[in-house]
Amino acid sequence: MEQRVFNFSAGPATLPLPALEEAQRDLVAFPGAGASVMEISHRSKQFAAVLESAKANVQKLLNLPENYKILFVQGGASLQFSMVPMNFLRGEGKSADYILTGSWGGKAIKEAKKEGATRVAWTGKEEKFVRVPGQNELDLDPKAVYCHFTSNETIEGVQFATEPDTGKVPLVCDASSDILSRPIAIEKYGLIYAGAQKNIGPSGVALVIVREDLLAQVPEGLPSMLDYKLMVENDSLYNTPSCFAIYMVMLVTKWLLEDIGGLDAIAAINKKKARLLYDTIDGSGGFYKGHANKEARSAMNVTWRLPSEELEQKFTKEATAAGLHGLKGHRSVGGIRASIYNAMPVEGVEALADFMTEFRAKNG
Ligand SMILES: *Cc1c(COP(=O)(O)O)cnc(C)c1O
Repeated sequence: MEQRVFNFSAGPATLPLPALEEAQRDLVAFPGAGASVMEISHRSKQFAAVLESAKANVQKLLNLPENYKILFVQGGASLQFSMVPMNFLRGEGKSADYILTGSWGGKAIKEAKKEGATRVAWTGKEEKFVRVPGQNELDLDPKAVYCHFTSNETIEGVQFATEPDTGKVPLVCDASSDILSRPIAIEKYGLIYAGAQKNIGPSGVALVIVREDLLAQVPEGLPSMLDYKLMVENDSLYNTPSCFAIYMVMLVTKWLLEDIGGLDAIAAINKKKARLLYDTIDGSGGFYKGHANKEARSAMNVTWRLPSEELEQKFTKEATAAGLHGLKGHRSVGGIRASIYNAMPVEGVEALADFMTEFRAKNG
């Protein structure tokens, strides 16, 4: 059988081996169904149990209060860029704030502008997205219908240490690349969304967590598939959902709860992994240069440059040969990016840090 490598790809990304193995074991015949989870009705009692456990796991991990509803929708995080403003921004006199700390936030506001009025509460674009704003730098509209931020910018490797304080304005968060990687102050959020394929499952499904009272604002006449209220009323089963992807999210969240021990435990592991790489960068005498400012460094996507593009190419090529895959930076920024989501084991990061030290010794 083909050997598994350490996969540092940004997304779709590495998944926990126990989740993959359980899926493999039950792929052909799901217990109690006598058929694959891909082959049974989304309204069968077996699939209902899968959906219920996926929701219960997320609820438990995040310690979600009763008034937050969990949805599994399609169209990825990118459709949420539109769905959020369609549901909350349409109509006279409404405006939404956007905090821009990287490429994905830019895409989110681009879609929001098609639906209504937006304001940029802060942008790091001129500085090439190397940091997050301080609270006192935010130009917030107290009447905004929501304030959107990206908790972790996957491409630049810039992450908020804590949520911005928006007072009574509901926080909306694109948490695609750091959802369930650490505990969060859930009560600060109005809505959180995340494409599953970074930290919690395969592509094809997005997780949405929405505070129930906000659903009263959803306007009439939205396309049914884009209406949060209808999706909540139908418990994500208005139409056929991404059954297999939801099943995988259930297995990944089960791993997180039972094998890892929850979000405090995974956060400690993630911190340790990130520190290993950042220490290697900082201890390289300038051979490796981190992209993000230290206080905004992401624990999920570690981004850095080498002295030349030739060396960067050599680095990714030799890393791949050494079983360390997916390290090429995003095409828009170049350099190197190591995505070290929940499922990347410490051993993978240790192997990468060792490789970096050797590579510098040979090429520095
Ligand atoms: C990957 C990513 C997206 C886009 O996700 P899709 O599911 O491909 O639409 C959006 N936001 C962030 C922060 C991401 O990392």
